[in-house]
Amino acid sequence: MSAMNDAREVFPELPQPGLSGADAARLLTDVGPNVLPAARKASPWRKLLGELTHFFALMLWGAAGLAWLAGLPQLSVAIVVVVVVNGVFAHIQQERAQHAAERLQGLLPSQVRVRRDGRQRSVSASELVPGDVVILTAGDRLPADLRFTSASACTVDESMLTGESDALPKAVGDAAWGGTFLVNGQAEGVVTATGGNSRIAEIASLTNTTTSPPTPLTLELHRIVRVIAIIALTVAGVFFAVSVLVGIEWRDSFLFAIGVAVALIPEGLLPTVTLSLAMGAQRMASRNALVRNLEAVETLGSTTFICTDKTGTLTQNRMNAVEVVTLEGTARVLGDGYEPDAVLDGPGRRMALEVAVAARAASQGHAVKEGKEWVANGDPMEAAIDVLARRLLHQEPDNQVPDRRFAFDAHRRRESVLLGPTLYVKGAPESVLPLCGDGAARLEEQVDAMASRGLRVIAVARRDLPGPRSFWLDQPAENLERELVVLGLIGLHDPPRPDVAEVIRAARNAGIKVAMITGDHPATAAAIAKEIGLTDDPRLVVQGADLPEQEQILGALLDRDGVVVSRVSPEQKLRVARALQSRGHVVAMTGDGVNDGPALQQADIGVAMGRGGTDVAREAADLVLLDDHFGTIVAAIEQGRATYSNIRRFLTYHLTDNVAELTPFVIWALSGGQFPLALGVLQILALDIGTDLFPALALGAEPPGRRVLTRPPERRHLMDRNLMFRAFVILGPVEAIISMTAFSVVLFGGGWVRGEPWDEQLVLAASGAAFAAVVFGQLATSFACRSATVPPWKLGWFSNRLLLWAGAAELAALVLFLYLPPVAAVLGQAPPPPSGLIVAVLAIPGILIADWIYKRVRQPKHPIA
Ligand code: ADP
Ligand code: MG
Repeated sequence: MSAMNDAREVFPELPQPGLSGADAARLLTDVGPNVLPAARKASPWRKLLGELTHFFALMLWGAAGLAWLAGLPQLSVAIVVVVVVNGVFAHIQQERAQHAAERLQGLLPSQVRVRRDGRQRSVSASELVPGDVVILTAGDRLPADLRFTSASACTVDESMLTGESDALPKAVGDAAWGGTFLVNGQAEGVVTATGGNSRIAEIASLTNTTTSPPTPLTLELHRIVRVIAIIALTVAGVFFAVSVLVGIEWRDSFLFAIGVAVALIPEGLLPTVTLSLAMGAQRMASRNALVRNLEAVETLGSTTFICTDKTGTLTQNRMNAVEVVTLEGTARVLGDGYEPDAVLDGPGRRMALEVAVAARAASQGHAVKEGKEWVANGDPMEAAIDVLARRLLHQEPDNQVPDRRFAFDAHRRRESVLLGPTLYVKGAPESVLPLCGDGAARLEEQVDAMASRGLRVIAVARRDLPGPRSFWLDQPAENLERELVVLGLIGLHDPPRPDVAEVIRAARNAGIKVAMITGDHPATAAAIAKEIGLTDDPRLVVQGADLPEQEQILGALLDRDGVVVSRVSPEQKLRVARALQSRGHVVAMTGDGVNDGPALQQADIGVAMGRGGTDVAREAADLVLLDDHFGTIVAAIEQGRATYSNIRRFLTYHLTDNVAELTPFVIWALSGGQFPLALGVLQILALDIGTDLFPALALGAEPPGRRVLTRPPERRHLMDRNLMFRAFVILGPVEAIISMTAFSVVLFGGGWVRGEPWDEQLVLAASGAAFAAVVFGQLATSFACRSATVPPWKLGWFSNRLLLWAGAAELAALVLFLYLPPVAAVLGQAPPPPSGLIVAVLAIPGILIADWIYKRVRQPKHPIA
């Protein structure tokens, strides 16, 4: 390589021009894309094996073995079929959920700024190659291993590699690893290794695939399944004992006991839940809300408090510098967007120009022309300052590379830059004006007036440093940022998003409280809050520094809709989240800064911005807003509620037919075996994994109801008393009674008399009627379960088309199971006579009417499903 390159090896601080585009492309084909090798995944066969050998499956295998030994090969085969069908089905659903999750991860933005062909460009992180020059600012994730070629006040968080929790300072020449974060300062570095060659890839291949701990929802579901399984086994055991006691042959008793257990265990529940969470996540993604773990879908549904920041989320983050206040007067600047043309008005133009140029020197964001349009590149506020300078200067301003930069952060609230012998400072007035001498007081008087018109106010100052320049190059910021000369104030306008007022109203209707948490001035925050209809009560506007120490008092203060916390620090955000949670709230909190990680993690739902935010915030978040828009949070909550409801829907549906399946055994046992068994084990299996399957899936895909957002949120167990009451006391018994009636009508109609032996053929036909009744009942139940408050005819029959298909499939399966002689024979049933069929069909109106009466009587105040 050239001598120049050698020189850079020795003097790494020489400016790096970066690779040429052509070299980069060639290297990319040589070394491959900058992606980590996929973690070694368990093979699909291993996973399928897992589905066939978990606790319930093993129990069922045992049952199949016993059935075989007991000389019941048909039952044995049927149980094996159940295990396999269930396992395969669960496996397919898990895989689909997994794929959905992976697709979602792929949507996460991952652009890096590099210098190529001597110019700054933005490329996808996967296109980085060794030798690329990467430009990083605080909050960025290092996209590959690199060596710093410039570093100003840099600290890097390497905890993910070393476990060391304090960020380490880095200087020019130091190495840093991909996957770590730049938490402070600014840096450039040359990429030394990418993808599989990077340090993190090495470590990942050493440590095996880690399994994440179970989440609350998983625990809750396991709890449900365990409770049901224990009930099933207990009931089965009691049955076995009772039937042996009443003198039934132990083989038959065993058969019944197995039937009871199999009927009650909801084998397919877990994968169905996982899949419906994945579908919920996918729907959220299509509305620009990206969940980073499936659980968040459910948590979102129970959110009761949204703490949102202002800039970019409630407002458009299209800043426009409209006023410059100096000691000479106020200049107004009327221009459109980031166009450099504008109308100027008012005195003080000369000083205004000085303010703009100084503020611009202490900025990095710029306006650039993309096609015909001028857009912001970098921080929109800084882009607006750049535009202001262009508007006042009427020409392209000079670009100078600063000697030092003290970057903006949420604590300092100012940024300063050393350019030659001059220090330029811009920042929040409270942060800058106290460092200034004469004139600061006069300008300070203007700040409140500007802020209360909704403008963001920035103070600008400078200092001509005495003495030799070299002296200042290694002084701390405090020594430089003093004895400043104030130049003026810039007022920036950032219009609210047009639909925010409406979304806030929707959130309120849904019983969700909204708070604005912002780093901006209280008066600016109050003016915007008023404009978007959040609050017009000045008592609701507080400052971060005034927040009470005690958590209880803080919670009581903040637990009000429309509260505005201004001039907030990241630590105060964390306290806000905690205090609200201690009041029982489920808190969604947005954050975009480097230091927002803890607050995002503390909140039940941490929300980060896909466009404006930092990588650090995205990494800590549960939800990423791809469009940075407040409305997207509410849309995600809506979908979360819908998904939660869907899980309750198919839970109700599954549990309802358990009652109808169990009843024949109860009657048979109570009669001491004198009354024939209406439904056999194989019929129950045909119901559970045959006819029931499709409607359950279709219920999982139910779209959000129109009224999802008109009800207050509710935090409760998935399987609560209401749900069990509806399934076990209302819908289930109705279905069971009609099914047993259909059975009896055929049986007695065929001439059976109590106490007499029965004609096998007659019982088969009667059993067919009972089976048909359950299928019809479930058909009606599937429609009834679409809502917990309104009868199905009020929902529109076509609003869930999937359910119509599922219903048709269910009926087709019924016809097959009844009228295809070999199938019917195996299941132990025969086509019922017309009388039996008529009673069976009555299950449809029976269920619908019972459900309607239940809904009328209960008239729940806050239903969710
Ligand atoms: P927000 O919550 O509205 O995003 P920030 O925390 O970003 O607020 O900003 C807080 C305050 O810090 C602003 O009101 C402004 O005065 C100042 N500020 C923001 N960005 C910069 C910057 N790039 N340089 C200097 N000061 C800034
Ligand atoms: Mg901000």
